[in-house]
Amino acid sequence: MQLYNSLYHKKEEFIPNEPGKVSMYTCGPTVYHYAHIGNLRSYIMEDVLEKYLRYTGLSVRRVMNITDVGHLTSDGDTGEDKMLKGAQREHKTVMQIAAFYTDAFFDDCRKLNIKRPDVVEPATHCIDSYIQIISTLLEKGYAYLAGGNVYFDTSKLEEYYVFNKHNAEDLEVGVREGVEADENKRNKTDFVLWFTKSKFEDQELKWDSPWGIGYPGWHIECTGISIKHLGEKLDLHCGGIDNAFPHHTNEIAQSEAYLGHKWCNYWFHVMHLNTNSGKMSKSSGEFLTVSLLESKGYNPLAYRFFCLQSHYRRTLVFSYDALDNASAAYTRLLSRIAALDFDDTSAFDAQGAQDLRTGFTAALDNDLNTSLAITALYDVLKSSVNDRTKIQLLQEFDTVLSLDLIESAKKCKQVSQTTNADAEEDDAEILALIAARTQAKKSKNFAEADRIRDELKARGILLTDTPQGVQWRRM
Ligand SMILES: [Zn+2]
Repeated sequence: MQLYNSLYHKKEEFIPNEPGKVSMYTCGPTVYHYAHIGNLRSYIMEDVLEKYLRYTGLSVRRVMNITDVGHLTSDGDTGEDKMLKGAQREHKTVMQIAAFYTDAFFDDCRKLNIKRPDVVEPATHCIDSYIQIISTLLEKGYAYLAGGNVYFDTSKLEEYYVFNKHNAEDLEVGVREGVEADENKRNKTDFVLWFTKSKFEDQELKWDSPWGIGYPGWHIECTGISIKHLGEKLDLHCGGIDNAFPHHTNEIAQSEAYLGHKWCNYWFHVMHLNTNSGKMSKSSGEFLTVSLLESKGYNPLAYRFFCLQSHYRRTLVFSYDALDNASAAYTRLLSRIAALDFDDTSAFDAQGAQDLRTGFTAALDNDLNTSLAITALYDVLKSSVNDRTKIQLLQEFDTVLSLDLIESAKKCKQVSQTTNADAEEDDAEILALIAARTQAKKSKNFAEADRIRDELKARGILLTDTPQGVQWRRM
């Protein structure tokens, strides 16, 4: 498989260190709030990558951290502590916030058919590993103590800006938000490994260390967790492009200084999801979450389909119009599959299948071209192979794309069969349920409103709230 490696800014043949096995690391969420759909775009594309590697016969071990300590509001070392901010906002403890938003994140993943990584490790569980790595970095002269904190000394490296061909906007992410300069730093790009002199008087989570009671910086956790679970040589590291600098740059700096050799061979970065007004963030514009999309009547898998329609290395612009189009295309695809004969007992057409399979694998082998992989689904439907072969192939491709193609198409079929039989009676009942939901919303009984929406959804009815009232259609 050819994969674009951000480390060298070019496509390369993906060759794992150990034949047949892939060690894969993903930067997980900072669990102080819901993930927005821009964050989730990265996880969707990484999920397709992982599943495709497995599809090609590789055995993948994937590890993800959960950031529950140390991440400040700037990606550099300035600003407020994100977890503390979340806790204050909701009058809860940091650990309650972490537990709640970790669950919320995996709920979103489940709805989007994103597989849970083999290992999910909260940053707070590996403090000993960070202390051990930081001690070694101090011994080797790559770190120094200043003002009570431990810093990584970037001037000791031959090369620091490893991803420096990314555009300036991406590189500036970490520095532009920070206004206050940390006078303890010897070099502007140095970063904190361990905080003891905290400016957060009420920091809840702190641990004893050789340098005093404190807590780890954000970057060290990924090095610690990755080495702990995947060893000293990593095949593939993934994340959103906004993590390339300074987070991934710092991960490489400290990991390679600590190990004394090259750490990770391939870096996979997913570009931003923007809205028409610019980069999506939690703080500006509408806070777009999976739940919000659902409340507007969208199937989360329509959002997954929307993401797969474009390449991960392209900035994707989100709008409701674009999502409507994707949603309609997804529904049409399902109804075309539903029209196939699921009882076809013809023999599986191995030769025909192999030709169609080539189109699918060629697309994904070429730097994970998911939009062409989607085209391969239509090629199957258009082809002359029998329905049994079509269904089996679509099912096979869906182990990578995870769009619930067969299962949803079967539901579609059932719904259309029942609706054909007693459509009028059915329509009256649907209208009655919609009226009951509107009433429930008016009396602020949102739980009941959601329940009715879910009930309708289970029957294949999608609701869309519009300024003119509720519209409904069959999936
Ligand atoms: Zn990370």
